[in-house]
Amino acid sequence: MSDAESPTKPTLTPAAQTEDFEPVEVFPETTEMDLRPGSDNCYKCTACDVSCPVAEVDDKFPGPKFQGPEQWRLKRKEDTSVDSSIMSCSNCMRCDDACPSGVPLSQMHNTARGEYVETEMDKLSREYIRNRILSNYGTLAWFGSKVPRLTNAVMGNSLVQQINEKVLGITSERDFPEFATQTFREWWEERGGAATSKERAQEARAERGGPQVRSEDKRVAYFHGCYSNYNTPEVGKAMVRVFESFGYEVVVPKQRCSGTPMFANGMLDDARRAAGINVENFSGLLNEGYDVIASCTSCSMSLRQEYPELFDIDGIEDVSEHTYEALEYLRIHEDLEGAIAEASVSDQAFAYHAPCHGRNQGLDRQAVELFRELDGVTIEDVGDSCSGISGTYGWKSEKYDVSMQIGADMFDHMEHAEGDVGMTECPTCSMQMAHGSGYEIRHPLQLLEEALV
Ligand code: SF4
Ligand code: SF4
Repeated sequence: MSDAESPTKPTLTPAAQTEDFEPVEVFPETTEMDLRPGSDNCYKCTACDVSCPVAEVDDKFPGPKFQGPEQWRLKRKEDTSVDSSIMSCSNCMRCDDACPSGVPLSQMHNTARGEYVETEMDKLSREYIRNRILSNYGTLAWFGSKVPRLTNAVMGNSLVQQINEKVLGITSERDFPEFATQTFREWWEERGGAATSKERAQEARAERGGPQVRSEDKRVAYFHGCYSNYNTPEVGKAMVRVFESFGYEVVVPKQRCSGTPMFANGMLDDARRAAGINVENFSGLLNEGYDVIASCTSCSMSLRQEYPELFDIDGIEDVSEHTYEALEYLRIHEDLEGAIAEASVSDQAFAYHAPCHGRNQGLDRQAVELFRELDGVTIEDVGDSCSGISGTYGWKSEKYDVSMQIGADMFDHMEHAEGDVGMTECPTCSMQMAHGSGYEIRHPLQLLEEALV
């Protein structure tokens, strides 16, 4: 979107056009992360605007250049408020990837969104209450999973969905994700926790033979996130079994939400609290040789990039440096390609979607590259478009249509792909894929488990 098309772009006052113009800090309390040097790297090429899936379908959204460097550079003392359009950014972070000049766009957006929510949003408004509820899905899920069958029945009731839409502004177009009857953590405890994992890993190392490795070299701490714990424990189980089969001892520290939905809704205080607990619980393990593994690409993104960008917490850089996505880690440390080349599964075809947050970590091709060598599997990338749901974004009534318009390309490619089972690493992309296509959606770790364990 060009400058001229930015509907809410501020116009420079005459004073601003004189030599007296002095940019001011928009967010004075964030002195530790003054982003103006980053914004000065912007040379207005508009590559970020062209890459933005929201700007592509929503003419009212001014785009990432305006949300980022322009707001940071051009605000005047008498106009320090953040534009409300920041709430229409879905935090897909595609603009980060697109910028040839390294402007920290998503960091600017997250900071601006937090500032907007803090200073401009009515805390009793329906939007704030709805966004706070969606951001804290992990807390809701904790309660819901205590009585999963009842919760599923209530949340699946069409009357409840209509009430949710009318009262809270949560779309009734989508089916609420079902809670598993046993959470991943319940399964993990029942199975014997870290002690059992250590035994299984030792057995696998003995079976594999070859040079003896010290157990300190084969230790991972699993960040399962909310969705694998409460909704799809089969993904967490697959992660544990696959890593153990390569001889890794798995631990599952206590954890909170990664913060992804909180960043996207400007709930930075909630995110800071969650990050503090996660960093404390994982950083202590790093000295014992553990690396942090996430099965969700938004969780790994959060721990890797958003935590150190936004918070100053002891140990945060170490956690960031030692965090990996599950397949990525195995590809780096094991001969995963070799193992896959020798394996086979029953014939199946997949339509694979790379999540935006996976792209941002350079992981967009890994599942396709890996599984096309697996005997019995056909896998096709359904293109580089955004799925459109972006976590909580597509759950908001007023964003539902935009979310589906963004996802239209992906739905179309899925329909034309040979496979009629979807695959992705992101839980909410998985919801959108299922919603738009009706396909069953699997996680790459589940296929890896089928092939190797
Ligand atoms: S994060 Fe995504 S939605 Fe937000 S401005 Fe960047 S590209 Fe657009
Ligand atoms: S892509 Fe980077 S340099 Fe180009 S307009 Fe956007 S922020 Fe500026």
